[in-house]
Amino acid sequence: MALIDHYGRKHDYLRVSVTDRCNLRCIYCMGPEGVKQIPHERILTYEEILEVIAAGAALGITRVRFTGGEPLVRKELLHLVEESSRIPGITELTMSTNGILLPQFAGLLKQAGLRRVNISLDSLKPELYGRITRGGDLGRALAGIEAALEADLKPVKINIVLMKGINHPEVPAFLKLALEKELHLRFIEYMPIGAQGTEHEQYYLPLSYIHEVAAGMGVPLSPAESPAGAGPAEYFSLPGGRGTVGLIHPISQHFCHSCNRLRLTAEGYLKCCLYWQKEFPVRPALGDAAAMQKLLQEVVRLKPEKHLMGAHRGAGGISPQAMRGMSRTGG
Ligand code: SAM
Ligand code: SF4
Repeated sequence: MALIDHYGRKHDYLRVSVTDRCNLRCIYCMGPEGVKQIPHERILTYEEILEVIAAGAALGITRVRFTGGEPLVRKELLHLVEESSRIPGITELTMSTNGILLPQFAGLLKQAGLRRVNISLDSLKPELYGRITRGGDLGRALAGIEAALEADLKPVKINIVLMKGINHPEVPAFLKLALEKELHLRFIEYMPIGAQGTEHEQYYLPLSYIHEVAAGMGVPLSPAESPAGAGPAEYFSLPGGRGTVGLIHPISQHFCHSCNRLRLTAEGYLKCCLYWQKEFPVRPALGDAAAMQKLLQEVVRLKPEKHLMGAHRGAGGISPQAMRGMSRTGG
């Protein structure tokens, strides 16, 4: 039986947050003190995560993305990747990472069955990268990107949160990167989630800005085929470019009508919308495959039609569920 909600949306994609911990503290994701860490015993074990994935696979989940926090800071992650790849029905395993640990792990992840990675990179200037990530080393992130390309974790996608007054002057440098390298950029609108107060208001810049910059550089964006697993981004090519440019507008043009995703938090809660407060504990269903499948069906049944993220812009505040932040929910 498939996971189809009230609005006819079929769910075949599960995003699994394997940890809330991270080796960076990006300004849009968490406060300067980082996140209050969840004690180990409250985090799902790999065996428990595998149970949820297997129940999902029996209901038509085919794609799984590991995220966090930073997934590569959790010990023995390769074991989870390898075991997930053995679950019948799971055809694509991917990961969102900041890339810092990829030089060490890219080849091993590929061998374990990971198909491809999305890597966060919000600046190409060492000093600004360090400021945005609160201490990250740009050289290591770039080495991570090279390692992913070498290990054939392709298409390699680069996630850039566009922030007015912070990294928006770097859009030309990023576009140049997509011209020269086989990298698929994804500019993401700053979401009112995780950060404190009304910062999202001051940083927010609509993605139409990317079109303007590209046109000004003489490389106007034209609609393109999406690289594998395109998700909610609309993709464009640059004349003569090796990579592509994707735009993700969670706020100005939400993509809820085609949302096919479910999320599992590190603490063991299912969420069917990043921006919806309701979450469902999986622990009571552990050890009982039928109960886990029933729970997944119930979560999908209750999925709201769309999120209200845009409604919070201009309201001078953000909702409690948004305050929880991406690193806790799994971005
Ligand atoms: N640590 C990994 C990484 O950075 O890719 C995976 C987890 S991170 C929470 C997943 C994605 O969420 C990243 O691409 C990050 O840029 C994005 N993200 C976090 N907070 C965001 C916000 N307030 N607005 C838009 N994107 C955000
Ligand atoms: Fe860590 Fe990713 Fe959040 Fe940055 S965006 S703090 S790398 S979890």
